[in-house]
Amino acid sequence: RFDKDFGQHILKNPGISDAIVDKAFLKPTDVVVEVGPGTGNITVRALEKAKKVIAIELDPRMGAEVTKRVQGTPLAKKLDVILGDVIKMPEMPPCDALISNTPYQISSPLIFKMLAMPNPPRVAVLMFQREFAKRLVARPGDALYSRLSVNVNFWATCKHIMKVGKQNFKPPPKVESDVVRIEPLLGSARPNVAFEEFDGLLRIAFNRKNKTLRAGFSVKEVLALCERNYKVYCSLHNIPIDESLADATATAADDDDMDVDMDDNAADKDDDDDHEEVAADNGMDEDEDDEDMPTFFKELKDADAAKEAAKTPSRNPKSKVALVVKTKVAKVLAGTALGEKRARQCDQNDFLKLLLAFHEEGIHFS
Ligand code: SAM
Repeated sequence: RFDKDFGQHILKNPGISDAIVDKAFLKPTDVVVEVGPGTGNITVRALEKAKKVIAIELDPRMGAEVTKRVQGTPLAKKLDVILGDVIKMPEMPPCDALISNTPYQISSPLIFKMLAMPNPPRVAVLMFQREFAKRLVARPGDALYSRLSVNVNFWATCKHIMKVGKQNFKPPPKVESDVVRIEPLLGSARPNVAFEEFDGLLRIAFNRKNKTLRAGFSVKEVLALCERNYKVYCSLHNIPIDESLADATATAADDDDMDVDMDDNAADKDDDDDHEEVAADNGMDEDEDDEDMPTFFKELKDADAAKEAAKTPSRNPKSKVALVVKTKVAKVLAGTALGEKRARQCDQNDFLKLLLAFHEEGIHFS
């Protein structure tokens, strides 16, 4: 009856449904979005406390169940069911609270979707598989520290609420679950940078979280992205490109092409060492949290291939603009003293400092 591909593990313990809704501290004026109402166990409780519940459900059979459950009751007029995939919706409906016994396959995109909202909800109470919940609260140096951890703790505060055993679900999932409460920073407390910019920088930094940031920023596709964005930025703001910066880099590069290769080898060796260190620590492989990373870098590679095909002089990696950008990147990494640090050791202030320094040089990531 339940479809595991939709992550349908229905809560059969009413005490847990109650606790999830209670922990959102709903007000009678609140609009709540519930992702994946299923048969409506959490939904009915939220309807009793809030002004309105917008329930977004992928499976039409479940949409029909939850509608039927409140039919003929005073709760019916407070419920809107939207059939569809919440991740594919261009925007999540504005709301005061977000609640979900989250289908495990959309854990990461759902959080990112909420954090990227210009006006996010006041509170989100979400149940996740335990490993995922641990990533949300991971700190620099922890094996599970990732781009997700930095984003959540930069744009919100996140608190573990309770553990939920697998026997509370039908059918039981393979792993245990945790409920967390996330409170996005709102209004003037919200960091004054674009979400896509901060996240764009983190994607680069965490692509190889055990490599130094300097090594991460020497990747060809990353420099190509920076160059592309820099050109757009300069042309939009009518800023002349200071080609004298290119001459300095070109001379240095001609002199020590060999050094660059040796540096790269050194970085790789470093990375191997780290690999052992991490494996010894926790048996975790690096970067396994960034499931959408291959797509991101494939996109960059595709764009790079397209650039190569165009073969205009400015597409040459040693073009003046490319060299200007390389100089600027090196300047930022040296100026912030973060070039030799690894993403897994950096906290959110390091990343913000880095982003602002890049912006100062006109380098952007989205
Ligand atoms: N809320 C119910 C409960 O706690 O008993 C059901 C939770 S069940 C873990 C997840 C629900 O999310 C299922 O009803 C499933 O059909 C729905 N779902 C799965 N993927 C979805 C998506 N991308 N968008 C919206 N709903 C989704």
